[in-house]
Amino acid sequence: MADELALHDGPKAVQTDVGDIFDWPIITEEDEEAVLDVLHRRAMSGRDITEKFENDFAEWHGMDYALGCSSGTAALQAAMWACGVGVGDEIIVPSLTYWASALPAFTLQATIVFADVTFETLCIDPDDIERHITDRTKAIVPVHYCGYPADMDPIMEIAEKHNLKVIEDVSHAHGGLYKGRLVGTIGHVGAMSVMSGKSLAVGEGGLFITNDRQIWERGIAWGHYGRTSATQWTGELEEQVITDPELVPYVGLPWGGYKYRMHQMSSAVGRVQLKHYKARMDEIQKAMNYFWDLLEDVPGVLAHRPAAGTNSTMGGWYAAHGLYVAEELGGLPLSKFAEAVRAEGGTCSPGANFALHLHPLLNTADIYRHGKPTRIANSDRDLRQPEGSLPVTESIQQRCYSIPWFKHYRPEIIEQYALAYRKAADNADKLMD
Ligand SMILES: *Cc1c(COP(=O)(O)O)cnc(C)c1O
Repeated sequence: MADELALHDGPKAVQTDVGDIFDWPIITEEDEEAVLDVLHRRAMSGRDITEKFENDFAEWHGMDYALGCSSGTAALQAAMWACGVGVGDEIIVPSLTYWASALPAFTLQATIVFADVTFETLCIDPDDIERHITDRTKAIVPVHYCGYPADMDPIMEIAEKHNLKVIEDVSHAHGGLYKGRLVGTIGHVGAMSVMSGKSLAVGEGGLFITNDRQIWERGIAWGHYGRTSATQWTGELEEQVITDPELVPYVGLPWGGYKYRMHQMSSAVGRVQLKHYKARMDEIQKAMNYFWDLLEDVPGVLAHRPAAGTNSTMGGWYAAHGLYVAEELGGLPLSKFAEAVRAEGGTCSPGANFALHLHPLLNTADIYRHGKPTRIANSDRDLRQPEGSLPVTESIQQRCYSIPWFKHYRPEIIEQYALAYRKAADNADKLMD
């Protein structure tokens, strides 16, 4: 019988050769030529291409400034320092995220307070931010998790009320829209990775974008000593990049003691990828929305995407996930459901990033030999958050799963992957024992 589960010796839902539907990024001769040009000019450590990439990137977002960095982690740390995060300060970050949204705070002798997420969005819950604000809070770091645009309007309202900076982590959501506005352009600064696993996939690298000249200058002062303008050392006539009177005397050396220059093999690929990104992203959106449309009536599975008609999008659907409602399938555990989907040849791995607030590094590690855990080394109170403190984040491993991340709109293949889910849900009762 065609609807018999593959797990119970029925035919698999996914039968077709999937071809290149999952291959990413798309690399053509244009990328190759761009990289070869850098190599042949021996310009790997230069910055001519990186500056063009920054201009392209800023222009795409309609922002005044972009700063290319060696990684997304570097861009986030530079953005945090540029926003004034320092000793004893606190930043508010969702606990459900990649570590780089949060951990750079430790290097600034600041610390992290985690907020919960909402089940529907997997993004920071705006209603769980204010209870974490103290007079030490400096910034909120919303993450557009797996492409879902965080609810920026209330976040900006809270930030304004308490005079906080908002650093958007856009590493999952390049090109995504929040109510018609590009993510990364709404906070005071948008920082992101463009490493090759992301939806805008370039290679090791990161950027931040901002309209605030001071944030941009501080980002340069932090990790780009070669760009602060060496005028006074060489006597050359060069445009003075750093104009902030606080920074000017230190031109020529990086405040952070870091060197965050972007590799030009990355920025060269970045320029080519960016040129084609909009069209490729549109195709991803068409494919992913088709997948979820096919599953609209299936109990137990819920799309992780903004409602239609909100003018919000999932960008390039980075690491696409789905939501699981076990109650609609008689309480079937996600692990069993996922096993059945995978037996069909489908994609379904339970869970997402682990809850950061429960990891030992955030609780016991004394990284800088303060004689106490780094998390509270510069704090006026014990702000660690034990198990039970962020219930939605802590339940997420049982309530979401990876789904196939299609890069092309090929309906026959997508239909088979959707069928894998439908079969598992239709046969939930048979999976119970
Ligand atoms: C990938 C990622 C980063 C870090 O970027 P790198 O380029 O790997 O340093 C930061 N935040 C999030 C949410 C990420 O997924």
